[in-house]
Amino acid sequence: MKEALNREWNFTDGSSIPVGTMYGVGRNYAAHAVEMGGTVPTDPIIFIKPPSAYCKSNSTIELPNWSTDVHHELELVVVIGTDAEQVSEADAFSLVAGIGVGLDLTARDVQARAKKKGEPWAIAKGWKSSAPVSAIVPTSVCGMGPWDIALFTNNEIRQQANTSQMERSVSQLIHYLCSVFTLRKGDCIFTGTPSGVAAVHSGDVVTATLDELTSLTVRFT
Ligand code: MG
Repeated sequence: MKEALNREWNFTDGSSIPVGTMYGVGRNYAAHAVEMGGTVPTDPIIFIKPPSAYCKSNSTIELPNWSTDVHHELELVVVIGTDAEQVSEADAFSLVAGIGVGLDLTARDVQARAKKKGEPWAIAKGWKSSAPVSAIVPTSVCGMGPWDIALFTNNEIRQQANTSQMERSVSQLIHYLCSVFTLRKGDCIFTGTPSGVAAVHSGDVVTATLDELTSLTVRFT
């Protein structure tokens, strides 16, 4: 329980800030949109995970007993460092405190049922420990990208991409989110997954990397 209450972004320079609202972006890589049987949406698909869904690297994640099909979604995660009500696309990246790599863990069977009925994705996307994220690399170290991301299940590569393949860039996503929400220091954006999503099972060890800047390892039980 103690672990669950410790919800802070840990930066690689030793600093930390509390985890805020976690925004997720749907179908932001064309190949993943196709594998989901859809297309890249005209307007961004946005959903929210609660801060309590966050867990850090080296966590053991208990798979929910109400789903039989939890998928890994490898994603670049952008942590916001400044409160903002609106920002131009040109200035948007200045709001970023740092970046990490995370898993937007998704109960695909529950999400599919919700989609069919036009219901929200809160349970499919926001369950406890559904948002593991690596240590965060400050922008002074990571620059403005693009970056390579990759995911391995039990040392076998399953997903890889360069963030230049995103349909909407980090700056475009921040600009859009700010037009709807007030972004706050500690909020983050899961920027969408490339193709290759697949189920995880009890006993799997999943590792995700962001260039050689930072990485995430979690075990499922
Ligand atoms: Mg996702």
